[in-house]
Amino acid sequence: MPRTLLGVAGFPVAHSRSPAMHNAALAELGLDWLYVALPLAPERFVEAVRAFPASGFKGLNVTVPHKEAAHALARTRSPGATAIGAANTLTFGPEGEIEAENTDAGGLLDALGEPMAGLSALVLGAGGAARAAVWALIEAGAAEVSVFNRTPERAAQVASDLGARHAIRPGGADVLVNCTSVGLGGSMDAGQARVALGLDGIDPPAIVVDLVYGTEPTPVVAWARSGGSRVVEGLEVLVRQGARSLELWTGLTAPVETMRRAAAAPPDHGRAAGA
Ligand code: NAP
Repeated sequence: MPRTLLGVAGFPVAHSRSPAMHNAALAELGLDWLYVALPLAPERFVEAVRAFPASGFKGLNVTVPHKEAAHALARTRSPGATAIGAANTLTFGPEGEIEAENTDAGGLLDALGEPMAGLSALVLGAGGAARAAVWALIEAGAAEVSVFNRTPERAAQVASDLGARHAIRPGGADVLVNCTSVGLGGSMDAGQARVALGLDGIDPPAIVVDLVYGTEPTPVVAWARSGGSRVVEGLEVLVRQGARSLELWTGLTAPVETMRRAAAAPPDHGRAAGA
């Protein structure tokens, strides 16, 4: 019997830690399934994804630049994926029907691991990750969610779409979530990153999440630690969104500790990386 397949579609996707993380989890669950990296150029995405179910695929993770296209091609979408306008998880039904979910949202809340009700939150960025974070924090009952972005019009759009506040400049909050790519690839030190994000002169809040991750602490993580914040690293968010995806595909409880260990194994290039 051929193996059931899963994968992550992106462009590029070679840096992804998802194959290592998911294959470790599948082995732990005793499933003879295989999770592969699928480099897909944007112009190939729709045709390729439609062909996957007949080729043994049960589902896909989707990363940059395909999350909006994944949302658009699905037959059914979860309320979160609908509101966010992007999907990072596709599940294929027996007739090849495609269901879209956004586990970045729930994965962020799982990684935070404490109630957000009544807290104020500042989300930095206005891309797909920021939209998922804003939606998740509002759903979790945060008292106020503000969005700040280098290009203000984009933050204003996210705020208006999702019912958040557009911040003209970053201000105080209980929770800060960096959903920009600042710090990716180790190109900035903590000082440069603070300036790029408009955080110069601002004390780190009680809780800081940085979606960017790597083998070294990222600039935002270094800034947060210097102020004594509780820090949630991007790798933990990656693990938790992956755990939710795996549970959708298998119906089994994801072995989170195994996934965490596999995701944390050093990549070959030793630099900060994206999802
Ligand atoms: P995206 O759509 O490309 O958005 C990037 C955001 O970063 C934009 O808001 C952009 O601002 C901002 N930005 C880029 N360079 C900047 C700079 N030099 N100064 C200030 N702002 C800058 O990306 P995304 O899909 O939302 O993902 C954002 C980050 O989260 C990526 O690093 C991704 O790898 C990471 N991520 C991690 C996980 C995880 O599980 N850990 C999951 C999802 C995403 P403008 O609008 O002004 O261009």
